[in-house]
Amino acid sequence: MLTNAPKGTKDVLPQEVYKWHYVEKAFDDICKRYGFNEMRTPVFEHTELFKRGVGDTTDIVQKEMYTWEQAKRSLTLRPEGTAPVVRSLVEHKLYAEVQPQKYYYNIPCFRYEKPQSGRLRAFHQFGIEIFGTDNMMADAEIISLAKDFLDEMGIEDVKLHINSIGCPNCREEYKKVLKEFLAPKYDQLCDTCKDRYERNPIRILDCKSPEDQEAVKGAPRMIDHLCQECKDAFDELQEDLDALGIEYEIDPGIVRGLDYYTKTAFEFISGKLGAQNTVCGGGRYDHLSETLGGPPIPGVGFGLGIERLLLTMEESGIEIPKPEGADAFIAFVGDEAKKKALSLTGELRRKGLKIAMDPMGRNMKGQFKYADRLSARYTIVIGDDEIAKGVVSVKEMESGEQKEVAFDQVETVIGR
Ligand code: ATP
Ligand code: MG
Repeated sequence: MLTNAPKGTKDVLPQEVYKWHYVEKAFDDICKRYGFNEMRTPVFEHTELFKRGVGDTTDIVQKEMYTWEQAKRSLTLRPEGTAPVVRSLVEHKLYAEVQPQKYYYNIPCFRYEKPQSGRLRAFHQFGIEIFGTDNMMADAEIISLAKDFLDEMGIEDVKLHINSIGCPNCREEYKKVLKEFLAPKYDQLCDTCKDRYERNPIRILDCKSPEDQEAVKGAPRMIDHLCQECKDAFDELQEDLDALGIEYEIDPGIVRGLDYYTKTAFEFISGKLGAQNTVCGGGRYDHLSETLGGPPIPGVGFGLGIERLLLTMEESGIEIPKPEGADAFIAFVGDEAKKKALSLTGELRRKGLKIAMDPMGRNMKGQFKYADRLSARYTIVIGDDEIAKGVVSVKEMESGEQKEVAFDQVETVIGR
C-alpha cells in the first residue's frame, strides 16, 4: 500500500519526462509569441471560489472537489484554472492595467473522477485567458493559438467544434423551453438532475448518466434560441475563423461542464482518444468576475489536458526527440587521476558542458560499461601516464578516433 500511488494519479518517470519538457517548452514558446504572460496561482483556494465560479450545480462542484476544513476555513484543491486566475486579476487589480490582459499557465488540477484512460484525479492543464474585451477577435485568437499549438505538436487527427451557449438573457428564455420539454420526463431523471431541473436545467444536458442522456435526446437547442447580440457574436466568430483559415464544425451539443461560460464554447476533439476525446476545451465567460464580486471584466480562454495531449501524440505515432546524451564521460584510475577527474568534471560543468563520471568507485571496465549506458559523445581517460604528461586521452565515440589533449585544451576539443 505504502508503495502504491493513490488511484487516479501518475508518476512521470525520468524515462518519459523529456516528453513533458518538450510540450511544456513548445507551449511556453507559442504563448510568448502570441503575447501572453505566465500567471502562477496557488494549488488550493477558498472553496467558495469554485462553488460560485464553476457553479454549485456542476459535476465538478457537486461530486469532484477535494475539499477540507482547516482553522474553520474550507479550502479546495484547484479543479480548474480559470476561476483562480480571475480571482488573482481582481485581487491585484490587473484589470486597471493595459487592456487586454493575456495570461497563460501550466498547472496541476484535481478532480475526484472515475479514473480511466485520459481521465485522472490529479492531472495537468495548459491554459490561456484573455481579459478585457468581448470582441470575437479575442475568441478567434484563443482558438488560433490552440490550433497552431496542436499543429506544431504534429497532431492532424483533431477537429474543432464550436457552439454558442448564449448569455444570461437568452438563457432564461431557453431554460423555460427546456423545462417544458423535460417536464414529462422528470421522473426519469437521476436525483442530481431532479434537483438541477429547478436550479439549472441546462446542466442536465451534460449529465453522464444513461437515463438522463436518453431523456435529453431531441431536446431544444440553445443555438436556436440565441438573442440577437449572441447570434451576431457567433456569426462574427465564424467570419474571424474563416479569415484565419481555421476549419470548424458547428456542434450544438457542446454544453461544457462549467457554469461560467457565455456565448462561445469550443472543443478540439481527437480522433485517437476514444471516450475521453476532448484534448482542449474552452469558451467565453463574460460574467465570471462579477459573479466573484469583481468589476465586469469579459474573458475568454481554454484548458488543454497535458496527459490527453501526450496520449494523442503517442496514438498518432508522433516521435518526441529524445534528449542528447552527455558531452563527455570522464574515466580514471589511481588517486592522482581521481583528483584530476573531479576537478576537470567540475570545471567543464561550470562551463556549460554536460559531463558524466562514475561516483561508485568502480574499476576501469565497470566505468566503461556505465559510460556505454549514458551514450556520451566523448570518453576521456585519465591514468598515471596521462597525469605524468599533463594530458588526458580523449576518444570520440562515433569515429573511435583517439588523441591526447592538454588539460587546458579539453573544452576546445569536446565543446560544441
Ligand atoms: P471532459 O468532458 O473530458 O470531462 P471537461 O469538460 O471536464 O472534459 P475542462 O474542465 O474543460 O474539461 O478541462 C479542460 C481539459 O482538461 C479537457 O479538455 C481535458 O483535456 C482535460 N481534463 C479534464 N478533466 C480531466 C481529467 N480528469 N483527467 C485528465 N484530463 C482532464
Ligand atoms: Mg469532466
